[in-house]
Amino acid sequence: MAARVTRRDFLNGVVIGAGGILLPGCSDELEAPASLPSSTPSTFTPPAPTAYYPPTLTGMRGSHVGSFEVAHDLAWRGQKPAHYEALDEHYDLVVVGAGMSGLAAARFYQQKMGSDARILVLDNHDDFGGHAKRNEFHQDGRMMLSLGGAQNLENPGGYSEAAGGLMADIGIDDDFVALMAEQTPENTALAGRLDAANGVALPGSDGHVIVGGNWNSVMFGGEGYEKTVRSLPIPETEQEILVDFFGGRRDFLDGLSLGDKWEYINSTSYNEFLMERVGLREDTVPIMNAIILHLWGVSGWNMTVLESVTGGATGIKSMGWVGKAGASVAGAFLDSILNVQMFPDGNASVARLLVQKLVPAVAPDMKGPEDVVIARFDYSALDRENQPTRIRLNSTVVGVREIDGERVEVDYVRQGNALRVTADHCVLACYNALIPHLCPELPEAQKEGLKYGVKTPFVYANVQLQDGQAWSQLNATLFQCPYDPFQWVSESPAVSVGGYEPPRGPEDPMVVFMMNSPIPLEKPGGPMTARDQLRVGRHIIYNTPFASYEQMIREQLQSMLGQYGFNHEADIRAITVNRIPHGYAYPYLALDDPEWEKGQAPHEIGRAQFGRISIANTDSEAIALMDAAFDAAWRAVEEQTAGH
Ligand SMILES: Cc1cc2nc3c(=O)[nH]c(=O)nc-3n(C[C@H](O)[C@H](O)[C@H](O)COP(=O)(O)OP(=O)(O)OC[C@H]3O[C@@H](n4cnc5c(N)ncnc54)[C@H](O)[C@@H]3O)c2cc1C
Repeated sequence: MAARVTRRDFLNGVVIGAGGILLPGCSDELEAPASLPSSTPSTFTPPAPTAYYPPTLTGMRGSHVGSFEVAHDLAWRGQKPAHYEALDEHYDLVVVGAGMSGLAAARFYQQKMGSDARILVLDNHDDFGGHAKRNEFHQDGRMMLSLGGAQNLENPGGYSEAAGGLMADIGIDDDFVALMAEQTPENTALAGRLDAANGVALPGSDGHVIVGGNWNSVMFGGEGYEKTVRSLPIPETEQEILVDFFGGRRDFLDGLSLGDKWEYINSTSYNEFLMERVGLREDTVPIMNAIILHLWGVSGWNMTVLESVTGGATGIKSMGWVGKAGASVAGAFLDSILNVQMFPDGNASVARLLVQKLVPAVAPDMKGPEDVVIARFDYSALDRENQPTRIRLNSTVVGVREIDGERVEVDYVRQGNALRVTADHCVLACYNALIPHLCPELPEAQKEGLKYGVKTPFVYANVQLQDGQAWSQLNATLFQCPYDPFQWVSESPAVSVGGYEPPRGPEDPMVVFMMNSPIPLEKPGGPMTARDQLRVGRHIIYNTPFASYEQMIREQLQSMLGQYGFNHEADIRAITVNRIPHGYAYPYLALDDPEWEKGQAPHEIGRAQFGRISIANTDSEAIALMDAAFDAAWRAVEEQTAGH
């Protein structure tokens, strides 16, 4: 093992690589990135250091410094500028938010109203894509990509007509999806390949104990599960229980009547079930929670037994008839999450494809999905005066109001300047909870509906390693780490989709992708709901500086990889931490939320059209998926273009 990780070893993301190169762009501050990407992995030459190219920035990304302060002043303190400079800019449509929903809204509008429609898209971040962000690293002439957020196309064959049509419009049709599947190696567990080796890593006395094989299959009683469970560094009594639980050897709901069983699985938290009926110790429970944290962003304290086992957690085999009845639901869920395809930078490539449709000048030579990943993007083209669609970054909207039923005024703050544009229509594709602050004129009931849900926070980190020598000895591409700050650790998507050339072997530099769910993992006290816990998680993220994340990352990787010769001081070349305080749309949870009548759920009340203003974003669908973002955009644009 290498030396203990101390604060002397590093400084705020600035890393001295093995070659002694000081990597640029590693800081909490917003700054111009180091370089433009190469057009192919093998021909990278360092371009102009002054180019504006956010994907290569390292240090604290996601909700980066400069992106959230104006909105927090408004939402937390009710403060915003008193006066605005009225720009001589009037648009047919202003879209607030350049995430998947906002970009889709712009494209739907353009498709319906013509390519000369004047559209402005505003976003508070320094990059477009919303959750779908790209992290890009360069070393030795090679480009390495990873996920700055939203990961994959989930069940693309099941998209609605509108969402599927948009995908086809940007070139992601059935044939391309089939090609993506072909270009995804069988060992890419992150991309949902079932047979790929994936393990679990548990802290031991001298670094992590790495358990390889196929952990996901083990948890469902797959081949060799008993042997694997007995190799875990947990007490023998716990191993015995897990063998029974994973293998479905006992009915842990035995003794309950039919009705009581149904009531129990609908009203008891998964973790309570694990402790009370399965008999696991509280300190074993996190092993069962890692998958829920990743898929849902909440823990087994926040989800019922039924929600958990139909949402990816293990246990369905150990509930007697309930298990048999629920197996088909769980199977359907697993089918959907495993029917995924992925670009090497996740859904950021989908955002790039949409942006290129809206503003072709950003990448005039790009053909489509086949080269989107390696296409050079010129950010200076996003907001040129002479083009019909403009995408304006670093711009936080603070006010949207309809004037005399004839037009909409949109106030925003861009790098300290308070500015105003006007439009015929506006689509708010930003966060639901902020909308009441942007539009205080909305009816009270609608504002309450918009404020109800709380988005799920996450931290997605990417760590550039000098090479893959130590990692390759793990013998799996993805690990669940239930007791670590980053509960999932994987190699970045090694897919050759979109023209990308992933690392060719252990000698090549690589990127390790790490996911943290910051929600408190202990049992919520008293009346605390999941929504309260999500708020706590968000505050944890905002209050954790980059240096703390860096320390956690170094310690975790050292403990996992030290036994294979890894030395974090020499082997880590750069770290990007994507802080995502406002992540998944809130989906409602049975333990906390009533069942609303159709049309009466808070998000349904909240998304009502308000004259020339319509509401998009996944919050308005209460579904954290890209197709929901597209569906919301479609609805909002249909509202605003009714009659055309
Ligand atoms: C970590 C993570 C992983 C995910 N993985 C997947 C996945 O694998 N597959 C999948 O289908 N979905 C995934 N999702 C769900 C994802 O939320 C949707 O797919 C989709 O990207 C959401 O798009 P959106 O436009 O609705 O919201 P967002 O992406 O949140 O975009 C909204 C944009 O509006 C901006 N904004 C907010 N307020 C203002 C303001 N006042 N002024 C200007 N701009 C503002 C925001 O900063 C943001 O950029 C994931 C989400 C997260 C958080």
